[in-house]
Amino acid sequence: MEKFTPAFLLEAENIMTKEIKKIGIVGAGQMGGGIAHVSALAGYDVYINDLTPDVINAGIASVEGNLARQVSSEKISSEDRDAALAKLHAANDMQDLADCDLVIEAASENEAIKRQIYNSVCPVLKPGAILATNTSSISITRMASSTDRAEQFIGIHFMNPVPVMKLVEIVRGIATDDETFEAARNYVDRLGKIYAVSEDFPGFMVNRILIPMINEAIYTLYEGVGSVESIDTSLRLGANHPMGPLQLADFIGLDTCLSIMQVLHDGLSDTKYRPCPLLVKYVEAGWLGKKSGRGFYDYRGEEPVPTR
Ligand code: NAD
Repeated sequence: MEKFTPAFLLEAENIMTKEIKKIGIVGAGQMGGGIAHVSALAGYDVYINDLTPDVINAGIASVEGNLARQVSSEKISSEDRDAALAKLHAANDMQDLADCDLVIEAASENEAIKRQIYNSVCPVLKPGAILATNTSSISITRMASSTDRAEQFIGIHFMNPVPVMKLVEIVRGIATDDETFEAARNYVDRLGKIYAVSEDFPGFMVNRILIPMINEAIYTLYEGVGSVESIDTSLRLGANHPMGPLQLADFIGLDTCLSIMQVLHDGLSDTKYRPCPLLVKYVEAGWLGKKSGRGFYDYRGEEPVPTR
């Protein structure tokens, strides 16, 4: 007699079996590199894309450096590093992402740039492929609606630095289907990370809380309440934060912090989220923090020196 399997079980089996093997990453900056790093270490084939081959190669070189550091500190073996490096590939052309099961966009926090990437990557992707974004704050639902696969679009929001930070926020858009959600959860599990599910509202959970605190620290500096050093020392020793808020802002990138404040301000229409003018000024100066060599600290010498 033929075995009867109820439809809901078939559906559940299907949900369990959507397997991800090959991952594309668009954006080879600090986050894209980090996501490539942990994905390759977990055994996924990883294809990295950015604007030019030079940027892609620089991204891969920085992953190599970070893997080497993990070998030196005995977090991974040299065999693990070699296996991960063999899994990392440059995708100089979007076409190289054609048979990826999952593509994670980790480009600059700018909705127009992200939409333009979806416009060029979607026609290349196979029908079942999942498209994810690492956005820190932009609406998943709105960006999904600009693609040909709103059901297979999801937020997989890693924290910086990706190889170190345990948490990943998973954010469903209004149309994201269960299969995509399960695939994202399985992927995060396989990376050995812990996920927290957030509803799709500006800033999700971590940045809704963290970035206004950083913005307030910048106001505290702007209004002359304290210097860079005294504000950071206060929060480190007075609130037991591992890093001061201004040091953390430099680490995240001041352009990213400003974009997130703008998203909170626009999306929640509350003046309490207005970006501090000093943050705007630093970004306008190109003082974006650690990645550009200068922010609330100057990183160009041996030791970081406060800039105010
Ligand atoms: P980054 O500036 O280090 O890297 C962004 C990369 O995107 C650059 O290499 C840039 O060349 C590339 N890029 C820009 N336009 C592109 C295009 N059209 N096609 C391909 N690549 C393009 O920024 P980041 O800190 O890695 O942030 C990337 C994303 O991750 C943003 O959405 C940010 O909000 C999010 N995020 C950042 C942090 C953080 O702490 N920095 C944490 C979590 C999430």
